Amino acid sequence: MKLDTPIAYLKGVGPRKADVLKTEAGIHTFADLLEYYPYRHVDRTRFYTIRELSEDLPYVQLRVRVKEVEMVEKGRMKRLVARVVDPTGQMELVWFQGIKWMKDVIRPGADYIVFGKVTSFKGVYNMAHPELEPLSEKSVHNALGLHPMYNSTEKMKSAFLDSKGMGQLIGLLFQNLSEPIPETLPSYVTQIMKMLSKADSLRAIHKPRSTEELAKAEFRLKFEELFYVRLRLLMQNRVRKNTWKGYPFAQVGELFNTFYNHHLPFQLTNAQKRVIKEVRFDTSTGKHMNRLIQGDVGSGKTIVALMAMLLAADNGFQACLMAPTEILAQQHHRGLQELLEPMGIEIGLLTGSTKQSERKRLHEALQNGSLRFLVGTHAIIEPAVKFANLGLAVIDEQHRFGVAQRARIYTKNLQPPHILVMTATPIPRTLAMTLYGELDVSVIDELPPGRKPVITRHMYDNRRLEMFGFLRQEIEKGRQAYIVYPLIEESEKLDLKHLEDGYESIKRQFPEYKLSIVHGRMTASAKEFEMQQFLQKKTQIMIATTVIEVGVNVPNASIMVIENAERFGLSQLHQLRGRVGRGADQSFCILMTDYKLSEEGRTRMQTMVRTNDGFEIAEVDLQLRGPGDTEGTRQSGMLDLKLADLAKDQKILGLANDIAEKILEKDPALNASENQVLKVELHRRSTGRTMWSKIS
Ligand code: ADP
Ligand code: MG
Repeated sequence: MKLDTPIAYLKGVGPRKADVLKTEAGIHTFADLLEYYPYRHVDRTRFYTIRELSEDLPYVQLRVRVKEVEMVEKGRMKRLVARVVDPTGQMELVWFQGIKWMKDVIRPGADYIVFGKVTSFKGVYNMAHPELEPLSEKSVHNALGLHPMYNSTEKMKSAFLDSKGMGQLIGLLFQNLSEPIPETLPSYVTQIMKMLSKADSLRAIHKPRSTEELAKAEFRLKFEELFYVRLRLLMQNRVRKNTWKGYPFAQVGELFNTFYNHHLPFQLTNAQKRVIKEVRFDTSTGKHMNRLIQGDVGSGKTIVALMAMLLAADNGFQACLMAPTEILAQQHHRGLQELLEPMGIEIGLLTGSTKQSERKRLHEALQNGSLRFLVGTHAIIEPAVKFANLGLAVIDEQHRFGVAQRARIYTKNLQPPHILVMTATPIPRTLAMTLYGELDVSVIDELPPGRKPVITRHMYDNRRLEMFGFLRQEIEKGRQAYIVYPLIEESEKLDLKHLEDGYESIKRQFPEYKLSIVHGRMTASAKEFEMQQFLQKKTQIMIATTVIEVGVNVPNASIMVIENAERFGLSQLHQLRGRVGRGADQSFCILMTDYKLSEEGRTRMQTMVRTNDGFEIAEVDLQLRGPGDTEGTRQSGMLDLKLADLAKDQKILGLANDIAEKILEKDPALNASENQVLKVELHRRSTGRTMWSKIS
């Protein structure tokens, strides 16, 4: 039978099982079943003897003879104990459940293979609820080896599709395949890389003959997954670059030059200059720019965006900047407007709370082209907003925007405007390659001069008074402080209570100071008012939830206290810390946690204390949480990797990428006969997710 045969046609799979396989495991065809890979293998490649046992061993198997079987009763507690021996010693097998049945099955004098975890009790080794198999030549043969373990849900188990059942089903499938499993990589690739064939890899991953063979199979299958992800992205990138026209920004004009020569408030860093050059080059070619700027918090991305916007205006185009929150949009607007004021240029501000009359004025000015610059939230992409000639869209802190929202920007002009995405969440190279394969990446890897790195401390709650003392000391010097509380998503009430309790206790501690409070359930204007109070130094301490996480800029604030820091992810902690260290003063970040910390929590705190480098932090984050959870990947929809792990398999990804690039260099459209296999497999793998290709 063929690979695309519906699973119901496999012997032993009736309509009920087929249904469970579909709904619970996504298995529709034979091919899907073959790709239902084990999540691990239990090593049963050898038999142990009783003399070799120790409690440190994982699950082990032994060949034993049963001496006697005894029912032991202690009050209402019953257990079945079998004393067993092998030529090197004796031990016990114990059952607490299924006793009656077991008692009938296990026979004194008979030989068995037993498999389980041993523990020692009063100097005697015992194994509770072992797997048990009568000893025979056949059972020895079957027992030895690496045994695959498959994921199984409750529903699957009740349909006899537990790990063992899945293994049997896959075994049956291999017996019933009428045609050889086709190769899915060109033979020149498998040859250079000395890889197992597809057929051998699939067989070996389900039933490896040795750990070496298993490793080879895993390598081949992981390589293939990552290779096709890269091949698809690289091809899309080529197509976009060659076919999408971009508005040419042919000249560097008066606005750009005037600003650069007369109104720049500081010297640009070399990294900023380099990125501006990259943008200038991209936009001058007549091709479409799709560029991601990665730059740590405080690296100065905003000014780069502004220069790009001026470039657009110099060439007769409008430009907009989209921020994820109202506070951020307002702040950007204020900052940029200040910078352009001397040149007499207006920047519009459009957010959810823009008044109707102002909204109407903005809509008109944008449509007739008299307004060249717009800053706002996603209110910008609403259909009512029409531009005369939008040439550039800057998207700040992009991970807050959904993929679909970003796509809507493309429709704001006859052909898509140039796109500049700015993110302060550094993404490890491997992730960037898989997630943003179609974006060119610029990195601002240099902070403006004179910044003192933030000093980070981790304190347990019992040092709270010490922390308060430190706060007071710094505030006396004229500094300001943030105290941030975690959002507790399960309970909004609890969340607010946390914040309010915090507020009350800080008020008691610091009766002489004025406090601001900002949280997610305040109106935009109330938030803005509080922010302004803090910015103008009318308040000394800002109590907040994570609404202040992104972008907020108060240079005089030099202390960031994070309460229940263990509840935050690494990238969030790093973002929060980025709120301080923006002025000339030495800044501090204090991570307050409970004494009890998970190992992962501890690693997070240690990482924060050790380094300020966002890329290093992102790398640790990836190792700790895996790519599925890393900021920015959740909504990507691209990471349906079955075997490969972006945190662990970075080397394989690099290899896969190199080979995909080489192939496309030689044969961009995959027309060569030896590359037909690539086309077929790309098509098979891409069905159902083509929508993602055009966006982001
Ligand atoms: P981010 O990359 O986090 O968005 P910003 O663009 O908000 O950073 O810049 C952070 C601060 O650094 C701002 O106050 C900005 O004016 C300042 N800044 C940016 N570039 C420079 C520079 N080259 N020299 C000095 N200060 C700079
Ligand atoms: Mg910013």
